[in-house]
Amino acid sequence: MTAQGPQTASNADVPRRNWAGNVRYAAKAFHRPTSVDDLRRLVAGSPRIRAVGSGHSFNRFGDTDGDLVSLAGLPPVVEVDHERRQVTVSGALRYGDVAQQLHTQGYALANLASLPHISVAGAVATATHGSGQTHGNLASAVAGLELVTADGDLLRVDRDTDTFAGMVVGLGALGVVTRVTLDIVPTFAVRQYVRLDLDRAALDEALGSAYSVSVFTDFRSPRLREVWRKQVADQAPPSADWLGTTAADQPRHPVLGMPAENSTPQLGEPGPWHERLPHFKLGFTPSSGDELQSEYHVARSAAADALAALDDVADLIAPVLLVSELRTVAADELWLSPNYRRDSFVLHFTWVEDTAAVLPVVAAVEERLAPFAPRPHWGKVFVTDPAEMSTRYPKYADFTTLLTNLDPTGKFRTDLLNHYFPRPLSG
Ligand SMILES: Cc1cc2nc3c(=O)[nH]c(=O)nc-3n(C[C@H](O)[C@H](O)[C@H](O)COP(=O)(O)OP(=O)(O)OC[C@H]3O[C@@H](n4cnc5c(N)ncnc54)[C@H](O)[C@@H]3O)c2cc1C
Repeated sequence: MTAQGPQTASNADVPRRNWAGNVRYAAKAFHRPTSVDDLRRLVAGSPRIRAVGSGHSFNRFGDTDGDLVSLAGLPPVVEVDHERRQVTVSGALRYGDVAQQLHTQGYALANLASLPHISVAGAVATATHGSGQTHGNLASAVAGLELVTADGDLLRVDRDTDTFAGMVVGLGALGVVTRVTLDIVPTFAVRQYVRLDLDRAALDEALGSAYSVSVFTDFRSPRLREVWRKQVADQAPPSADWLGTTAADQPRHPVLGMPAENSTPQLGEPGPWHERLPHFKLGFTPSSGDELQSEYHVARSAAADALAALDDVADLIAPVLLVSELRTVAADELWLSPNYRRDSFVLHFTWVEDTAAVLPVVAAVEERLAPFAPRPHWGKVFVTDPAEMSTRYPKYADFTTLLTNLDPTGKFRTDLLNHYFPRPLSG
């Protein structure tokens, strides 16, 4: 049975599959309410429901067999609180849209992911991140949440709430997030330089050399193909022989063969933060479009060893890889954040769009990284054993308790969520 709540005419706009196309949502009904009251009635009346954001996740954490609800029909809100240096936004808004409005008002977010196309609530739910040794992931900027809980009530929580650190990276399992309050900073300008052919020995220095740095490689050579250095505009540009690299003389795309036009401007041209921190422009296809992704966070101090551990399986990785990206993320206090109390080095893989070919390689990568207690990205493809996963998060049991308290009947649960967070036996 699914909810008989407000089925708006526009529910045809709710995505039936994820962006990558590897997940066809199994929901029996799709909803796009136009008011929070309608949403509350829908949630209260549904035995099984889930929110979908912009559908950029690669796994089935958000795939319900009940009602799937998009918040894209709710009124868009971007309210700046100048005194607190915070902005409250509708959860369904894309980071790219929020960023443009913030910049116009003289503000910025401290960091962004590689693409501005993702919804704020969906990105925060999976601890989406950009790069930068001193910057936390996007969830770490969350100062408050408003969510519709299982009984249809509207709950507001902030950093003073006891369980707040458990609620931010909530995997969509604690309620439907209608509004998110984010910390903001004064707007700033960034220049992006791409450098070619980095020696691995210089990886740590390269990653720490600017505001946000990404290193791209393909596991076909021990050398690292490209460094994307996003630096605040008044930092001196890299010298001609910076870390033994050479300067790219034309704009690049991280995936070889894809149009550089889709990428944010490079060659040191200054521009606002939101048009340089992501790799991809809003309005253009991000990445390749035909792909799967996996990503693993290890301790930053283990970067060189973790990368070296994959050398043994490089000949398995390379044939199914479009590109690999290496980034850093600062530690935070959020229970299910892969960066929980650990400054992180992050190994990302953009795979070919072939699940059968990719899964054995994902397993091989996880096996090689196991000594480093990797924490997988919650929105990407991974095969980690649930028992093993629970050892990687000191607050795993606390999150399971929170989940049970907020959603006692399992309304927001999905098969994959149950796999990783089994319902405690009652009685
Ligand atoms: C091309 C590409 C590039 C990417 N680059 C990066 C990157 O640079 N860094 C990174 O960390 N990740 C990256 N990702 C992964 C992506 O950021 C995450 O998967 C993110 O969760 C996607 O946000 P979304 O709005 O599409 O969420 P969805 O995929 O729609 O949903 C994700 C989860 O959030 C839940 N959810 C969505 N909306 C709500 C809501 N309103 N209330 C409660 N729960 C909700 C869903 O139920 C689901 O469980 C990339 C993905 C793609 C496709």
